[in-house]
Amino acid sequence: MDQNMETNVRRSALDIIRGYDGPPVRIMEVCGTHTHAIFEQGIRGILPENIHLISGPGCPVCVTETGFIDEAVCLALEKNAVIATFGDLVRVPGTEMNLAGVRARGGDVKIVYSPLDAVELAKENPERQVVFLSVGFETTVPASCLAVKRAKESGLKNFTLLTANKTMDEAYRALRGSADAFLYPGHVSAITGMRIYRELREEGISGVVCGFTASEILTAIAMIILRLGKGTAFAENAYPRVVAEEGTPIGRALIEEVMEPCDAVWRGIGKIPGSGLCLRKPEYAEFDARLRFGIPEMHGRPNPACRCGDVLMGRIKPKECPIFGKVCTPEHPVGACMVSSEGTCSAYYKYDMLS
Ligand code: SF4
Repeated sequence: MDQNMETNVRRSALDIIRGYDGPPVRIMEVCGTHTHAIFEQGIRGILPENIHLISGPGCPVCVTETGFIDEAVCLALEKNAVIATFGDLVRVPGTEMNLAGVRARGGDVKIVYSPLDAVELAKENPERQVVFLSVGFETTVPASCLAVKRAKESGLKNFTLLTANKTMDEAYRALRGSADAFLYPGHVSAITGMRIYRELREEGISGVVCGFTASEILTAIAMIILRLGKGTAFAENAYPRVVAEEGTPIGRALIEEVMEPCDAVWRGIGKIPGSGLCLRKPEYAEFDARLRFGIPEMHGRPNPACRCGDVLMGRIKPKECPIFGKVCTPEHPVGACMVSSEGTCSAYYKYDMLS
């Protein structure tokens, strides 16, 4: 879209939004990148009072359970494994400690920039067991799958995944009623395509796939307002320059080959049947850290003061958490929503504390 066209699209979407005088509308953005883009571009400030944006559970770090961190702590300190992880997860609180605490106790926690880096780490350290923390949605899971395939091809016996991958479609069902419509995440939709949204529409769940520029976000909000007025469920794509109807079949095929659906526990939501992606068994069972190390199931105890669950379900705004910005800050996060740069509490802290 050239600059002129973008300006025109933004103007007409704004006209629709500003002219809206119907009943209150609740729109949930389920993607952390959307939450940040909405703040960064000042979109909340230009919406009329009857259009409410709610931030949902779209950041994979935010929805990762305390028990998962406890498992990683156990692997590092009791099983002497090297933990390979993206940086965000290091500061997510576990029941007793986070992975930074593991380091302080002499545990080996390495930051990697891709799952393939973790495979290389395993190759370079054949005497150590390397466990990659695979935490993500459909966008990042293919990279974990590729790493497992690479490890299998190389005959690696010292590489495994600890998985907490999730898929969004069952989460939308669990969130039914939290909002009138969803802003569907552009990145995840680029992999999944539109099929899941058509299925959700048949079940009465509405939403619009949305990009990340101001024009794209305003256009998606305007589309939601127009479609809600018709009274029937809808599934629209306001991000066609990136999201194709069929998504990315090669990415989905990779996931299908290496992973299989499993139940997953979402922080704040609880267990959602079939909403996780675990290693396919028996084909890839040897790469499952839980099986290789025989660690017990861990449920974890989040800090009782943390209201992440209510934030992620859109029941409260982060500022309504009594310790937001006081005890809990990005420098000293008490809950996972304050850790990741995509976290809802972190976004409110960064942008809304200024307002
Ligand atoms: S402000 Fe901190 S403690 Fe409160 S809900 Fe957010 S992450 Fe949890």
